[in-house]
Amino acid sequence: TASTLKEIISHAKEYGFVFPSSEIYDGLQAVYDYGQNGVELKNNLKTLWWKAMTMLNDNVVGIDAAIFMHPLTWKASGHVDSFNDPMIDNKDSKKRYRADQLLEAKAEQYEAEGNPEKGKALLQEMARLLDAGELDGVRQLIIDENIKCPISGTGNWTEVRQFNLMFSTQVGAVSEDASLIYLRPETAQGIFVNFLNVQKSGRMKIPFGIAQIGKAFRNEIVARNFIFRMREFEQMEMQFFCRPGTEMQWYNAWKETRLKFHKAIGLPAEKLKFHDHEKLAHYANAAVDIEYQFPFGFKEMEGIHSRTAFDLTAHQTLSKKKQQYFDADLDENGKPYGNYIPYVVETSVGADRLFLAVLCNAYTEETVGEGESEKQRTYLKFHPAVAPIKAAVLPLVKKDGLAEKAQDIFHSLKRSFNTTYDDGGAIGKRYTRQDLIGTPCCIVVDYQTMEDETVTIRHRDTMEQERVKISELREKIGYAISM
Ligand code: ATP
Repeated sequence: TASTLKEIISHAKEYGFVFPSSEIYDGLQAVYDYGQNGVELKNNLKTLWWKAMTMLNDNVVGIDAAIFMHPLTWKASGHVDSFNDPMIDNKDSKKRYRADQLLEAKAEQYEAEGNPEKGKALLQEMARLLDAGELDGVRQLIIDENIKCPISGTGNWTEVRQFNLMFSTQVGAVSEDASLIYLRPETAQGIFVNFLNVQKSGRMKIPFGIAQIGKAFRNEIVARNFIFRMREFEQMEMQFFCRPGTEMQWYNAWKETRLKFHKAIGLPAEKLKFHDHEKLAHYANAAVDIEYQFPFGFKEMEGIHSRTAFDLTAHQTLSKKKQQYFDADLDENGKPYGNYIPYVVETSVGADRLFLAVLCNAYTEETVGEGESEKQRTYLKFHPAVAPIKAAVLPLVKKDGLAEKAQDIFHSLKRSFNTTYDDGGAIGKRYTRQDLIGTPCCIVVDYQTMEDETVTIRHRDTMEQERVKISELREKIGYAISM
Protein backbone atom coordinates (compact mmCIF):
# COMPACT_ATOMS: atom_id res chain seq x y z
CA THR A 1 0.00 0.00 0.00
CA ALA A 2 1.16 3.52 -0.72
CA SER A 3 2.73 5.14 2.28
CA THR A 4 1.07 8.25 3.49
CA LEU A 5 2.79 11.58 3.33
CA LYS A 6 2.39 11.80 7.10
CA GLU A 7 4.55 8.72 7.68
CA ILE A 8 7.19 10.04 5.31
CA ILE A 9 7.27 13.45 7.01
CA SER A 10 7.76 11.91 10.42
CA HIS A 11 10.41 9.51 9.11
CA ALA A 12 12.23 12.45 7.48
CA LYS A 13 12.31 14.26 10.80
CA GLU A 14 13.18 11.31 13.01
CA TYR A 15 16.13 10.23 10.85
CA GLY A 16 17.71 13.61 10.13
CA PHE A 17 16.45 14.36 6.62
CA VAL A 18 14.09 17.35 6.97
CA PHE A 19 13.22 19.47 9.99
CA PRO A 20 10.64 22.25 10.21
CA SER A 21 12.45 25.62 10.19
CA SER A 22 13.08 27.22 13.60
CA GLU A 23 11.10 24.45 15.23
CA ILE A 24 11.75 25.54 18.83
CA TYR A 25 9.64 28.61 17.99
CA ASP A 26 6.92 26.34 16.59
CA GLY A 27 8.30 26.51 13.07
CA LEU A 28 7.82 28.84 10.14
CA GLN A 29 5.19 27.83 7.64
CA ALA A 30 6.42 26.41 4.35
CA VAL A 31 10.09 26.73 5.29
CA TYR A 32 12.22 23.69 6.09
CA ASP A 33 15.77 22.81 7.08
CA TYR A 34 17.70 19.82 5.78
CA GLY A 35 19.36 17.66 8.40
CA GLN A 36 22.57 15.65 8.36
CA ASN A 37 21.21 12.98 6.01
CA GLY A 38 18.95 15.30 4.04
CA VAL A 39 21.80 17.59 3.05
CA GLU A 40 23.78 14.62 1.71
CA LEU A 41 20.83 13.36 -0.32
CA LYS A 42 20.10 16.83 -1.67
CA ASN A 43 23.75 17.47 -2.53
CA ASN A 44 23.87 14.14 -4.36
CA LEU A 45 20.81 15.09 -6.42
CA LYS A 46 22.28 18.49 -7.23
CA THR A 47 25.66 17.03 -8.19
CA LEU A 48 24.06 14.39 -10.40
CA TRP A 49 21.94 17.04 -12.14
CA TRP A 50 24.95 19.34 -12.53
CA LYS A 51 27.07 16.58 -14.04
CA ALA A 52 24.26 15.36 -16.30
CA MET A 53 23.82 18.89 -17.61
CA THR A 54 27.33 20.30 -17.86
CA MET A 55 29.73 17.36 -18.02
CA LEU A 56 27.67 15.13 -20.28
CA ASN A 57 26.68 17.90 -22.68
CA ASP A 58 29.62 19.51 -24.48
CA ASN A 59 27.61 22.65 -25.15
CA VAL A 60 26.18 23.35 -21.68
CA VAL A 61 28.10 25.40 -19.11
CA GLY A 62 27.15 26.56 -15.64
CA ILE A 63 26.92 29.86 -13.78
CA ASP A 64 26.08 30.98 -10.27
CA ALA A 65 24.27 34.33 -10.33
CA ALA A 66 23.31 36.43 -7.30
CA ILE A 67 19.90 36.18 -5.67
CA PHE A 68 19.48 39.96 -5.78
CA MET A 69 19.06 41.43 -9.24
CA HIS A 70 18.35 44.87 -10.61
CA PRO A 71 14.62 45.51 -10.08
CA LEU A 72 14.08 46.15 -13.80
CA THR A 73 14.90 42.49 -14.39
CA TRP A 74 11.54 41.58 -12.90
CA LYS A 75 9.76 44.27 -14.85
CA ALA A 76 11.17 42.82 -18.08
CA SER A 77 10.38 39.23 -17.15
CA GLY A 78 6.77 40.11 -16.39
CA HIS A 79 6.97 39.15 -12.72
CA VAL A 80 6.20 42.63 -11.38
CA ASP A 81 3.01 42.88 -13.40
CA SER A 82 1.77 39.35 -13.58
CA PHE A 83 3.43 36.90 -11.19
CA ASN A 84 0.18 36.72 -9.28
CA ASP A 85 -2.09 34.07 -7.85
CA PRO A 86 -5.81 34.77 -7.30
CA MET A 87 -6.69 34.52 -3.61
CA ILE A 88 -9.99 34.33 -1.81
CA ASP A 89 -10.91 34.20 1.88
CA ASN A 90 -13.70 32.38 3.63
CA LYS A 91 -15.43 34.95 5.82
CA ASP A 92 -16.35 32.45 8.54
CA SER A 93 -13.12 30.51 9.02
CA LYS A 94 -10.92 33.46 7.93
CA LYS A 95 -8.92 30.89 5.97
CA ARG A 96 -7.21 31.98 2.78
CA TYR A 97 -7.29 29.90 -0.39
CA ARG A 98 -6.09 30.08 -3.96
CA ALA A 99 -9.22 30.55 -6.05
CA ASP A 100 -7.74 28.56 -8.94
CA GLN A 101 -6.88 25.64 -6.65
CA LEU A 102 -10.42 25.50 -5.28
CA LEU A 103 -11.76 25.21 -8.82
CA GLU A 104 -9.07 22.71 -9.85
CA ALA A 105 -10.02 20.49 -6.91
CA LYS A 106 -13.66 20.67 -8.05
CA ALA A 107 -12.62 19.72 -11.58
CA GLU A 108 -10.67 16.75 -10.20
CA GLN A 109 -13.76 15.72 -8.26
CA TYR A 110 -15.84 15.76 -11.47
CA GLU A 111 -13.21 13.63 -13.12
CA ALA A 112 -13.15 11.17 -10.23
CA GLU A 113 -16.95 10.93 -10.49
CA GLY A 114 -16.62 9.93 -14.15
CA ASN A 115 -17.45 13.32 -15.55
CA PRO A 116 -14.16 14.58 -17.00
CA GLU A 117 -15.90 16.74 -19.63
CA LYS A 118 -17.56 18.78 -16.93
CA GLY A 119 -14.21 19.19 -15.17
CA LYS A 120 -12.50 20.30 -18.35
CA ALA A 121 -15.23 22.85 -19.13
CA LEU A 122 -14.87 24.27 -15.63
CA LEU A 123 -11.11 24.68 -16.03
CA GLN A 124 -11.55 26.33 -19.41
CA GLU A 125 -14.05 28.80 -18.02
CA MET A 126 -11.72 29.58 -15.12
CA ALA A 127 -8.78 30.15 -17.48
CA ARG A 128 -10.90 32.47 -19.62
CA LEU A 129 -11.99 34.54 -16.62
CA LEU A 130 -8.47 34.78 -15.18
CA ASP A 131 -7.05 35.79 -18.56
CA ALA A 132 -9.65 38.50 -18.92
CA GLY A 133 -8.99 39.70 -15.38
CA GLU A 134 -12.64 39.05 -14.47
CA LEU A 135 -12.06 38.26 -10.82
CA ASP A 136 -15.73 38.76 -9.88
CA GLY A 137 -16.54 36.08 -12.41
CA VAL A 138 -14.08 33.72 -10.72
CA ARG A 139 -15.78 34.32 -7.39
CA GLN A 140 -19.20 33.73 -8.97
CA LEU A 141 -17.93 30.46 -10.44
CA ILE A 142 -16.85 29.30 -6.97
CA ILE A 143 -20.30 30.17 -5.61
CA ASP A 144 -22.14 28.56 -8.55
CA GLU A 145 -20.10 25.38 -8.11
CA ASN A 146 -21.19 25.34 -4.47
CA ILE A 147 -17.60 25.13 -3.21
CA LYS A 148 -17.40 25.16 0.59
CA CYS A 149 -14.53 25.96 2.92
CA PRO A 150 -13.32 22.64 4.39
CA ILE A 151 -12.83 24.28 7.79
CA SER A 152 -16.07 26.24 8.28
CA GLY A 153 -18.18 24.25 5.84
CA THR A 154 -19.69 27.46 4.47
CA GLY A 155 -19.63 29.09 1.04
CA ASN A 156 -19.35 32.62 2.43
CA TRP A 157 -16.54 34.01 0.26
CA THR A 158 -14.83 37.40 -0.02
CA GLU A 159 -13.97 38.94 -3.38
CA VAL A 160 -11.05 37.46 -5.35
CA ARG A 161 -7.82 39.52 -5.35
CA GLN A 162 -4.57 39.09 -7.23
CA PHE A 163 -1.60 38.53 -4.96
CA ASN A 164 1.98 39.02 -6.18
CA LEU A 165 4.23 36.17 -5.07
CA MET A 166 7.53 38.06 -5.01
CA PHE A 167 9.18 38.88 -1.69
CA SER A 168 10.60 42.38 -1.57
CA THR A 169 12.95 44.24 0.71
CA GLN A 170 14.93 47.49 0.77
CA VAL A 171 18.49 47.84 -0.38
CA GLY A 172 20.59 50.75 0.89
CA ALA A 173 20.97 51.95 4.48
CA VAL A 174 19.84 55.55 4.09
CA SER A 175 16.12 55.80 3.57
CA GLU A 176 16.35 58.37 0.72
CA ASP A 177 18.66 56.09 -1.25
CA ALA A 178 16.88 52.91 -0.39
CA SER A 179 15.12 51.18 -3.21
CA LEU A 180 12.85 48.24 -3.55
CA ILE A 181 14.56 44.99 -4.41
CA TYR A 182 13.17 41.49 -4.84
CA LEU A 183 14.31 38.07 -3.79
CA ARG A 184 14.43 36.21 -7.10
CA PRO A 185 11.32 34.07 -7.68
CA GLU A 186 13.20 31.95 -10.24
CA THR A 187 16.84 31.44 -11.17
CA ALA A 188 16.25 31.70 -14.94
CA GLN A 189 16.60 35.49 -15.17
CA GLY A 190 20.16 35.34 -13.81
CA ILE A 191 20.93 33.22 -16.85
CA PHE A 192 19.20 35.51 -19.36
CA VAL A 193 21.00 38.65 -18.20
CA ASN A 194 24.33 36.81 -18.46
CA PHE A 195 23.63 35.26 -21.85
CA LEU A 196 26.07 37.50 -23.74
CA ASN A 197 28.70 37.45 -20.98
CA VAL A 198 28.89 33.68 -21.19
CA GLN A 199 28.56 33.55 -24.96
CA LYS A 200 31.39 36.01 -25.52
CA SER A 201 33.76 34.97 -22.73
CA GLY A 202 33.31 31.29 -23.56
CA ARG A 203 33.19 31.80 -27.34
CA MET A 204 30.02 29.72 -27.28
CA LYS A 205 28.33 28.81 -30.53
CA ILE A 206 24.61 28.33 -30.84
CA PRO A 207 23.07 25.97 -29.89
CA PHE A 208 24.35 26.07 -26.30
CA GLY A 209 22.95 26.02 -22.80
CA ILE A 210 23.59 27.67 -19.43
CA ALA A 211 22.77 25.77 -16.24
CA GLN A 212 22.32 27.07 -12.72
CA ILE A 213 21.36 25.77 -9.29
CA GLY A 214 20.18 28.20 -6.66
CA LYS A 215 17.63 29.46 -4.20
CA ALA A 216 14.35 31.00 -5.28
CA PHE A 217 11.64 32.59 -3.15
CA ARG A 218 7.88 32.76 -3.58
CA ASN A 219 5.33 34.01 -1.12
CA GLU A 220 2.99 31.09 -1.82
CA ILE A 221 -0.58 31.75 -0.62
CA VAL A 222 -1.28 28.20 0.36
CA ALA A 223 1.72 26.19 1.40
CA ARG A 224 1.08 22.50 1.84
CA ASN A 225 2.33 19.01 1.14
CA PHE A 226 5.57 19.34 3.09
CA ILE A 227 8.51 20.39 0.89
CA PHE A 228 6.42 20.22 -2.31
CA ARG A 229 5.45 23.88 -2.04
CA MET A 230 7.84 26.02 -0.03
CA ARG A 231 8.40 29.74 0.31
CA GLU A 232 12.17 29.32 0.06
CA PHE A 233 13.30 26.56 -2.26
CA GLU A 234 15.97 25.58 -4.72
CA GLN A 235 15.75 25.35 -8.49
CA MET A 236 17.94 23.61 -11.04
CA GLU A 237 17.39 25.38 -14.32
CA MET A 238 18.93 25.27 -17.77
CA GLN A 239 18.26 27.67 -20.63
CA PHE A 240 19.17 26.30 -24.04
CA PHE A 241 19.75 28.99 -26.68
CA CYS A 242 19.01 27.96 -30.23
CA ARG A 243 18.29 29.28 -33.71
CA PRO A 244 14.64 30.30 -34.25
CA GLY A 245 12.86 27.51 -36.06
CA THR A 246 14.90 24.75 -34.41
CA GLU A 247 13.28 25.10 -30.99
CA MET A 248 10.79 22.24 -31.33
CA GLN A 249 13.57 19.81 -32.18
CA TRP A 250 15.43 20.85 -29.00
CA TYR A 251 12.27 20.92 -26.94
CA ASN A 252 11.56 17.30 -27.86
CA ALA A 253 15.16 16.25 -27.30
CA TRP A 254 15.31 17.84 -23.82
CA LYS A 255 11.97 16.29 -22.85
CA GLU A 256 13.40 12.83 -23.44
CA THR A 257 16.78 13.63 -21.86
CA ARG A 258 15.17 14.90 -18.69
CA LEU A 259 12.81 11.95 -18.38
CA LYS A 260 15.77 9.60 -18.75
CA PHE A 261 17.55 11.41 -15.91
CA HIS A 262 14.69 10.79 -13.50
CA LYS A 263 14.62 7.12 -14.42
CA ALA A 264 18.40 6.85 -14.05
CA ILE A 265 18.30 8.06 -10.44
CA GLY A 266 15.78 5.37 -9.62
CA LEU A 267 12.32 6.85 -10.13
CA PRO A 268 10.17 4.14 -11.74
CA ALA A 269 8.76 4.76 -15.23
CA GLU A 270 5.19 4.08 -14.11
CA LYS A 271 5.36 6.89 -11.56
CA LEU A 272 6.49 9.45 -14.14
CA LYS A 273 4.49 11.03 -16.91
CA PHE A 274 4.42 13.97 -19.26
CA HIS A 275 1.59 16.42 -18.87
CA ASP A 276 1.19 18.84 -21.75
CA HIS A 277 -0.06 22.28 -20.80
CA GLU A 278 -3.54 22.86 -22.20
CA LYS A 279 -3.03 26.57 -21.94
CA LEU A 280 0.30 28.17 -22.80
CA ALA A 281 1.79 31.23 -21.15
CA HIS A 282 1.86 34.18 -23.54
CA TYR A 283 5.61 33.77 -24.14
CA ALA A 284 5.66 30.01 -24.72
CA ASN A 285 4.99 28.02 -27.87
CA ALA A 286 5.18 24.64 -26.15
CA ALA A 287 5.24 23.54 -22.51
CA VAL A 288 5.15 20.23 -20.70
CA ASP A 289 5.51 19.11 -17.10
CA ILE A 290 7.20 15.95 -15.97
CA GLU A 291 4.88 14.76 -13.24
CA TYR A 292 5.67 12.32 -10.46
CA GLN A 293 3.10 10.27 -8.62
CA PHE A 294 3.43 11.70 -5.11
CA PRO A 295 1.30 10.21 -2.29
CA PHE A 296 -1.10 13.11 -3.02
CA GLY A 297 -1.35 12.37 -6.75
CA PHE A 298 0.51 13.05 -10.01
CA LYS A 299 2.00 16.54 -9.63
CA GLU A 300 4.54 18.71 -11.43
CA MET A 301 8.16 18.03 -10.61
CA GLU A 302 9.85 19.62 -13.63
CA GLY A 303 8.76 22.05 -16.32
CA ILE A 304 10.10 22.11 -19.87
CA HIS A 305 9.19 25.24 -21.77
CA SER A 306 9.86 26.58 -25.21
CA ARG A 307 10.04 30.29 -24.34
CA THR A 308 10.76 31.72 -27.82
CA ALA A 309 12.75 34.98 -27.76
CA PHE A 310 10.44 36.45 -25.13
CA ASP A 311 12.88 36.98 -22.26
CA LEU A 312 15.91 38.20 -24.23
CA THR A 313 13.70 40.53 -26.29
CA ALA A 314 12.16 42.01 -23.14
CA HIS A 315 15.61 42.55 -21.61
CA GLN A 316 16.84 44.16 -24.83
CA THR A 317 13.90 46.56 -24.83
CA LEU A 318 14.23 47.59 -21.20
CA SER A 319 18.03 47.67 -20.92
CA LYS A 320 18.53 49.08 -24.44
CA LYS A 321 21.43 46.63 -24.79
CA LYS A 322 21.38 44.42 -27.85
CA GLN A 323 20.84 40.77 -26.98
CA GLN A 324 21.75 39.46 -30.40
CA TYR A 325 23.94 36.66 -31.56
CA PHE A 326 25.78 36.56 -34.89
CA ASP A 327 25.35 33.17 -36.51
CA ALA A 328 28.04 32.57 -39.14
CA ASP A 329 26.58 29.22 -40.21
CA LEU A 330 25.20 29.21 -43.73
CA ASP A 331 21.53 28.81 -44.53
CA GLU A 332 20.21 26.78 -47.49
CA ASN A 333 21.01 29.70 -49.82
CA GLY A 334 24.62 29.74 -48.72
CA LYS A 335 24.22 32.99 -46.75
CA PRO A 336 25.11 33.36 -43.05
CA TYR A 337 22.09 33.25 -40.77
CA GLY A 338 23.42 36.54 -39.38
CA ASN A 339 22.13 38.44 -36.35
CA TYR A 340 19.15 37.29 -34.33
CA ILE A 341 17.84 37.01 -30.79
CA PRO A 342 18.04 33.31 -29.96
CA TYR A 343 15.07 31.19 -28.99
CA VAL A 344 15.17 29.43 -25.64
CA VAL A 345 14.17 26.00 -24.42
CA GLU A 346 14.16 25.80 -20.64
CA THR A 347 14.28 22.84 -18.28
CA SER A 348 13.38 23.72 -14.70
CA VAL A 349 13.24 21.28 -11.81
CA GLY A 350 12.86 21.96 -8.10
CA ALA A 351 15.64 20.32 -6.07
CA ASP A 352 13.25 19.99 -3.14
CA ARG A 353 10.48 18.44 -5.22
CA LEU A 354 12.95 15.99 -6.70
CA PHE A 355 14.12 15.23 -3.15
CA LEU A 356 10.53 14.58 -2.09
CA ALA A 357 9.91 12.30 -5.07
CA VAL A 358 13.08 10.32 -4.36
CA LEU A 359 12.25 10.07 -0.66
CA CYS A 360 8.63 8.98 -1.28
CA ASN A 361 9.79 6.38 -3.78
CA ALA A 362 12.44 5.05 -1.41
CA TYR A 363 10.21 4.72 1.63
CA THR A 364 9.44 1.01 1.92
CA GLU A 365 7.49 -0.97 4.47
CA GLU A 366 7.77 -4.73 4.13
CA THR A 367 6.78 -7.83 5.99
CA VAL A 368 9.69 -10.22 6.30
CA GLY A 369 9.96 -13.73 7.73
CA GLU A 370 7.14 -16.15 8.31
CA GLY A 371 5.01 -17.34 11.20
CA GLU A 372 6.65 -16.62 14.55
CA SER A 373 9.53 -14.66 13.08
CA GLU A 374 7.32 -12.46 10.88
CA LYS A 375 7.98 -8.77 11.35
CA GLN A 376 7.62 -5.33 9.79
CA ARG A 377 10.68 -3.79 8.20
CA THR A 378 10.99 -0.15 7.17
CA TYR A 379 13.84 1.05 5.01
CA LEU A 380 14.76 3.63 2.39
CA LYS A 381 15.41 1.96 -0.94
CA PHE A 382 17.51 4.74 -2.51
CA HIS A 383 19.43 4.23 -5.72
CA PRO A 384 22.99 3.90 -4.30
CA ALA A 385 24.04 6.98 -6.29
CA VAL A 386 21.71 9.23 -4.26
CA ALA A 387 21.93 7.49 -0.85
CA PRO A 388 23.30 9.88 1.83
CA ILE A 389 25.75 7.30 3.18
CA LYS A 390 27.14 4.66 0.85
CA ALA A 391 28.63 2.20 3.32
CA ALA A 392 28.72 1.53 7.07
CA VAL A 393 31.64 -0.35 8.58
CA LEU A 394 30.56 -2.48 11.54
CA PRO A 395 32.80 -4.69 13.73
CA LEU A 396 30.85 -7.75 14.83
CA VAL A 397 32.20 -7.20 18.35
CA LYS A 398 34.51 -4.54 19.76
CA LYS A 399 37.10 -6.84 21.33
CA ASP A 400 39.98 -8.92 19.96
CA GLY A 401 41.14 -6.22 17.57
CA LEU A 402 37.95 -6.27 15.45
CA ALA A 403 37.13 -2.63 16.23
CA GLU A 404 40.64 -1.49 15.21
CA LYS A 405 40.45 -3.50 12.00
CA ALA A 406 37.05 -1.98 11.19
CA GLN A 407 38.45 1.51 11.90
CA ASP A 408 41.28 0.89 9.42
CA ILE A 409 38.80 -0.10 6.72
CA PHE A 410 36.59 2.89 7.53
CA HIS A 411 39.50 5.34 7.21
CA SER A 412 40.64 3.80 3.94
CA LEU A 413 37.18 4.06 2.36
CA LYS A 414 36.04 7.45 3.63
CA ARG A 415 38.13 9.38 1.12
CA SER A 416 36.36 7.70 -1.78
CA PHE A 417 32.72 7.93 -0.67
CA ASN A 418 30.60 8.87 2.30
CA THR A 419 31.26 6.09 4.82
CA THR A 420 30.26 5.75 8.46
CA TYR A 421 31.44 3.62 11.39
CA ASP A 422 29.22 2.13 14.07
CA ASP A 423 30.12 -0.25 16.88
CA GLY A 424 27.23 0.41 19.26
CA GLY A 425 24.75 -2.37 20.05
CA ALA A 426 23.71 -5.68 18.52
CA ILE A 427 24.58 -6.14 14.85
CA GLY A 428 20.88 -6.49 13.87
CA LYS A 429 20.10 -3.13 15.46
CA ARG A 430 22.97 -1.56 13.56
CA TYR A 431 21.66 -2.95 10.26
CA THR A 432 18.28 -1.46 11.04
CA ARG A 433 19.78 1.95 11.77
CA GLN A 434 21.43 1.93 8.32
CA ASP A 435 18.26 0.63 6.62
CA LEU A 436 16.28 3.53 8.04
CA ILE A 437 18.57 6.08 6.40
CA GLY A 438 18.99 4.05 3.22
CA THR A 439 22.66 2.99 3.37
CA PRO A 440 23.02 0.40 0.56
CA CYS A 441 25.75 -1.71 2.16
CA CYS A 442 26.99 -2.69 5.58
CA ILE A 443 30.55 -4.01 5.80
CA VAL A 444 30.95 -6.41 8.69
CA VAL A 445 34.31 -7.23 10.24
CA ASP A 446 34.28 -10.59 12.02
CA TYR A 447 36.79 -13.18 13.29
CA GLN A 448 37.34 -14.58 9.83
CA THR A 449 38.46 -11.12 8.72
CA MET A 450 41.41 -11.37 11.09
CA GLU A 451 42.50 -14.57 9.38
CA ASP A 452 41.87 -14.02 5.67
CA GLU A 453 41.41 -10.28 5.03
CA THR A 454 37.79 -10.72 3.89
CA VAL A 455 34.61 -9.05 5.18
CA THR A 456 30.88 -9.56 4.73
CA ILE A 457 28.83 -7.11 2.70
CA ARG A 458 25.21 -7.13 3.81
CA HIS A 459 22.95 -5.63 1.14
CA ARG A 460 20.11 -3.35 2.24
CA ASP A 461 17.35 -4.40 -0.16
CA THR A 462 17.82 -8.17 -0.21
CA MET A 463 19.43 -8.48 3.24
CA GLU A 464 21.70 -11.01 1.54
CA GLN A 465 25.35 -11.31 2.56
CA GLU A 466 28.41 -11.92 0.47
CA ARG A 467 32.06 -12.44 1.32
CA VAL A 468 34.46 -9.94 -0.24
CA LYS A 469 38.20 -9.28 -0.04
CA ILE A 470 39.01 -6.01 1.77
CA SER A 471 41.22 -5.06 -1.17
CA GLU A 472 38.20 -5.22 -3.51
CA LEU A 473 35.81 -3.12 -1.40
CA ARG A 474 36.58 0.26 -2.87
CA GLU A 475 36.08 -0.87 -6.45
CA LYS A 476 33.00 -2.94 -5.73
CA ILE A 477 31.17 -0.20 -3.82
CA GLY A 478 32.43 2.48 -6.18
CA TYR A 479 30.85 0.57 -9.04
CA ALA A 480 27.55 0.10 -7.21
CA ILE A 481 27.18 3.81 -6.46
CA SER A 482 27.85 5.01 -9.99
CA MET A 483 25.00 5.66 -12.40
P1 ATP B 1 3.42 25.22 -9.40
O1 ATP B 1 2.40 25.25 -10.52
O2 ATP B 1 3.48 23.91 -8.68
O3 ATP B 1 3.36 26.41 -8.51
P2 ATP B 1 5.15 26.42 -11.27
O4 ATP B 1 4.56 25.96 -12.55
O5 ATP B 1 4.90 27.78 -10.78
O6 ATP B 1 4.83 25.36 -10.13
P3 ATP B 1 7.76 26.85 -12.29
O7 ATP B 1 7.67 28.31 -12.15
O8 ATP B 1 7.69 26.24 -13.64
O9 ATP B 1 6.70 26.16 -11.33
O10 ATP B 1 9.06 26.35 -11.52
C1 ATP B 1 9.83 25.25 -11.95
C2 ATP B 1 9.98 24.20 -10.87
O11 ATP B 1 10.37 24.80 -9.63
C3 ATP B 1 8.72 23.44 -10.55
O12 ATP B 1 8.52 22.38 -11.45
C4 ATP B 1 8.99 22.95 -9.15
O13 ATP B 1 9.75 21.75 -9.18
C5 ATP B 1 9.82 24.06 -8.55
N1 ATP B 1 9.00 24.91 -7.70
C6 ATP B 1 8.22 25.95 -8.07
N2 ATP B 1 7.62 26.52 -7.02
C7 ATP B 1 8.03 25.81 -5.92
C8 ATP B 1 7.76 25.91 -4.52
N3 ATP B 1 6.97 26.85 -4.03
N4 ATP B 1 8.36 25.03 -3.70
C9 ATP B 1 9.19 24.07 -4.18
N5 ATP B 1 9.47 23.94 -5.48
C10 ATP B 1 8.90 24.79 -6.35
